[in-house]
Amino acid sequence: MGSKTKISIQQIKNEDVKTAVFSALELIDAQHLMQKDNMVVLLKPNLLMGKPAERAVNTHPEIVRAVIQWVNQFNPSKIYVCDSAGGAKPGITEIAMKESGIQDICEKEGVICIPFEKTEREIYEVKDALELKDISSSSLIREADLIINIPKIKTHWQCTLTCCVKNMFGTVLLANKAKTHAQAAILDRFCSALADIYSISKPQLTVIDGYYCMEGQGPSSGDVVKLDIVLAGYDGVALDSTVCKIIGFEPREILYLTKAEEKKLGTTDLEKVEIVGETIESVYRKFKRPKLKPISMPLPKWLADYIGKTIFKASVKFNKEKCKLCSTCWTNCPVNAITPPNEIKKGNIPKWDSKKCITCFCCVELCPHEAVKFKINYIKNAAFSWMGLGCVAFLALITMLILWLLP
Ligand code: SF4
Ligand code: SF4
Repeated sequence: MGSKTKISIQQIKNEDVKTAVFSALELIDAQHLMQKDNMVVLLKPNLLMGKPAERAVNTHPEIVRAVIQWVNQFNPSKIYVCDSAGGAKPGITEIAMKESGIQDICEKEGVICIPFEKTEREIYEVKDALELKDISSSSLIREADLIINIPKIKTHWQCTLTCCVKNMFGTVLLANKAKTHAQAAILDRFCSALADIYSISKPQLTVIDGYYCMEGQGPSSGDVVKLDIVLAGYDGVALDSTVCKIIGFEPREILYLTKAEEKKLGTTDLEKVEIVGETIESVYRKFKRPKLKPISMPLPKWLADYIGKTIFKASVKFNKEKCKLCSTCWTNCPVNAITPPNEIKKGNIPKWDSKKCITCFCCVELCPHEAVKFKINYIKNAAFSWMGLGCVAFLALITMLILWLLP
């Protein structure tokens, strides 16, 4: 039992978030991390976009408040609450901080709430890189005595789940996130990039917001699930794996978890985990999956890239009724595949360039009005790709050869 990593699960009873967070942390003896004087503590919630708490898109402000209050008991010198929201538009993180209610909580608790992109930039070299040789992030990642990850349980169109490991993608500064999407457009490569990022920003402690979660078309357009739980632990990979079991997914189907395990950043083997507090069974609630099923391709990079750009290419559709021409999609597309219509007037929709699109899902994730839809027509894509044409030509050649050899 001694060498097992501890994970606590606590239920939130009668909306008492503070008691659940404090007891989850006590159950794993987290106070031992707070022994130093004048500590600088960095809290990293999930701040995807400007949506209110009840939409379950961002970490719930009451969870952030409870973690701040827990840290404050140990007289730290500074507490920072930081993130870099989805997309590349300047000011987008400030909007997310304000509209999520997290900025207000920080002001009331007297802590610093600042976008990562407004802090000093630092380039980190990645050891044993799977995809990214270096990462552009904040100097706070190095300066903080303690990093506490505060992710939220949500399904994710592209990666199936977003929680601990995926949340640290937000430590990459705005425009560099877009660059990462563009460089590692294929799921395998993007998941390798996530593991590389997690290896740099690896938090020492994690508190998971399982208060209001999201199922189905997450991370922004799914359905809200009030799960009423909090998890705490040290190993983000093991925590994500535990979350998988709670919501009826398999840890090994989440590609970035296998990549993170490959980099020795944690374990997906729940035999190596000691669960304290509630059991997985007692809080189990099967989540609806996202409609698109991610397909992993352990192929050479050039072939995976080719297949990703052809057979797995999505087509993006805009809903005329829902689109408010708010500009979020065209200002945040990492490869400028979306442009505004000729005239900004109701009934017009943005223009989409299929040749430029890298199927990164950012427009779907970030549209505040759920006006972007994705479709992947694998059969049509395969038929019209060079690979598809090559297969047809090959089959035709074989058929001709057989016919020629037949008496
Ligand atoms: S599709 Fe969505 S993000 Fe794009 S302009 Fe319309 S409302 Fe805004
Ligand atoms: S159009 Fe959408 S999916 Fe395609 S690259 Fe731009 S943001 Fe990504």
